[in-house]
Amino acid sequence: MSESCQVAIRQAEKQRELIFRAADWLWKHPETGYKEWQTHAFLKAEYEKLGYTLVEAGNIPGFYTEIDTGRPGPTVLIMAEMDALIVESHPSCDPETKAVHACGHCCQSAGLLGVAAALKEPGALDGLSGKIRLMEVPAEEAIEIDFREDLRKQGVIRYFGGKQEFLSRGMMEGVDLVTLIHTSVRAAGLRTARHRGLRQLP
Ligand SMILES: [Zn+2]
Repeated sequence: MSESCQVAIRQAEKQRELIFRAADWLWKHPETGYKEWQTHAFLKAEYEKLGYTLVEAGNIPGFYTEIDTGRPGPTVLIMAEMDALIVESHPSCDPETKAVHACGHCCQSAGLLGVAAALKEPGALDGLSGKIRLMEVPAEEAIEIDFREDLRKQGVIRYFGGKQEFLSRGMMEGVDLVTLIHTSVRAAGLRTARHRGLRQLP
């Protein structure tokens, strides 16, 4: 493993407490797509505490921030989804909305916050080039379509999915590569997924 990878891992491990604290908070405040306003406010406050300036979507939840290493190179977008599912039978669902992070997106947003914190550690950008954009996107799950259709009719959104919406708003302009993490019930070792589905890397 390269020296810069080892440094990155050490810097990420320092964020353990922050990541778990954020994941716990998000787990306890599940919100479905285009309703993630508490989630947005919580994460916004955490990013601003770290010193980041955010570009917010505005009339829907979600934002991004960008780190420039000062050296030429690609722009890598690391993305996290914010929304929960509705699972009435889930023992941890919200008693009123029945929302719960049954897809584990609380871990995505907590993990991305950990990345944001790690990139603020001294020397974190040494050995890196290009730009890193960190993005919180709403509305991954295709649920509550009537609600989204109302938003569309009101002119708030053009797309039911948050990623398509952000793409249409130009929030991914200049990005060369997009990546995100997702929890799984499978054993550790599955490292990534591609746009056409899960794939185990060698
Ligand atoms: Zn998911």
